[in-house]
Amino acid sequence: MPFSTDPEHIAISRSTGIKIDWKDGHRSEYELQYLRDECPCANCTGAHGTPPRPKESESPFQMYKPVLKMLDAKPVGHYAIQIQWSDGHSAGIYSYEHLRHICPCEDCKAVFEGR
Ligand SMILES: [Zn+2]
Ligand SMILES: [Zn+2]
Repeated sequence: MPFSTDPEHIAISRSTGIKIDWKDGHRSEYELQYLRDECPCANCTGAHGTPPRPKESESPFQMYKPVLKMLDAKPVGHYAIQIQWSDGHSAGIYSYEHLRHICPCEDCKAVFEGR
């Protein structure tokens, strides 16, 4: 299935998340916690040989944590968005390609199964 990693339109809300309309007509909606959990940086994914950061959406203690907020989100060149989180983390650069691959909808989950 052909799919686009070029965004046609990006809507960023600091309180709810990011919505992207892709050039192939698909729409992706990402909640804040989901995006935080999918941070592609080396620290969060364990690329330095350190254990990956546990996903907070899978944590039973989630309700006791302060609500995650997005402090800032800015484009990086024409290929990515850098997000600054209220937990102090801002190393994650979310390329559009990465974002398309982590689209949480059922259709994309089926396409990118095993990612
Ligand atoms: Zn990270
Ligand atoms: Zn999708």
